Amino acid sequence: LKRPVERPAWLLNHDSITLVKKLGEGAFGEVFLAEFSTGEEKQEVAVKTMRNEPTREARLKFMKEARLMRKYNHRHVVKILGVAVHENPLMLVMEVCPGGSLLSYLRKNKGKTGAAQKLRFSTEAADGLWYLEKQCCIHRDIAARNCLLSAKTEVKIADFGMSDDKKIVHDDTLDKVPVKWLSPETLQGKVYSLKTDIWSYGVLVWEVYMDGAEPYPGLSNIQTRAKVVVQNYRMEMPKECPTAVAKVVYACWDKDPKNRPEMGKIFRILKEVNMRTIQS
Ligand code: ADP
Repeated sequence: LKRPVERPAWLLNHDSITLVKKLGEGAFGEVFLAEFSTGEEKQEVAVKTMRNEPTREARLKFMKEARLMRKYNHRHVVKILGVAVHENPLMLVMEVCPGGSLLSYLRKNKGKTGAAQKLRFSTEAADGLWYLEKQCCIHRDIAARNCLLSAKTEVKIADFGMSDDKKIVHDDTLDKVPVKWLSPETLQGKVYSLKTDIWSYGVLVWEVYMDGAEPYPGLSNIQTRAKVVVQNYRMEMPKECPTAVAKVVYACWDKDPKNRPEMGKIFRILKEVNMRTIQS
């Protein structure tokens, strides 16, 4: 007796997804707030779409992002529900983060984000990244713009469009690399490792404590590259940043990738600062 072939729950039908409104602009298409219905139940979701008629390369990249996200399950990493790929536009369905990006939150609340909240943002991002580190995921684009916020403003690491689950990635494509978030060895050798993410995490914490300012203010990408790689220049953490946190950031920016701390250690240090702040 032949049974009907069941479609894995992860492959979704376009019919079950109703786009509601645009939330943002992605590199390959738009991101929408949408309604996802499973039988009687309806759920609010976010849907990343891919422009019609994607090239083979873009399609592969899209599927890779979905495949990677599918492996992860953590409070501080955006969850994927599935993909709809039998029609155009291709859709990647994920949990919605109504708080928007951490960067826009910091900019909107300039001067109003308190010390405790900045510490919490930094700690939650470290928690999510620690999990990804354990999964051997190199994110490659850690920055405040790629962290999203839940309704309760919990940080969720998002945008796995550049990510990989190899130990080291060689990538010498010249198109748009986030120069101001990249480590010297990555800028020079075009090699990405978990230690590249650690460096970028340092820049992310700087963004948090600077209310979403652009890193290396006033410098172009070319100038930044020269200052960081050749002159060994590092940004300063603002005075309001707790000393222990600033020390972590500077350690993340060690020229030698081997000397940069692991995410687990960073998380533990930040947790301890949290405890001390609560007690005092
Ligand atoms: P890309 O990788 O193409 O740059 P992103 O994943 O960064 O796309 O998404 C682009 C924008 O869409 C984000 O900055 C954010 O404003 C919005 N967005 C993306 N995912 C979600 C989500 N899960 N919930 C809410 N908004 C989202």
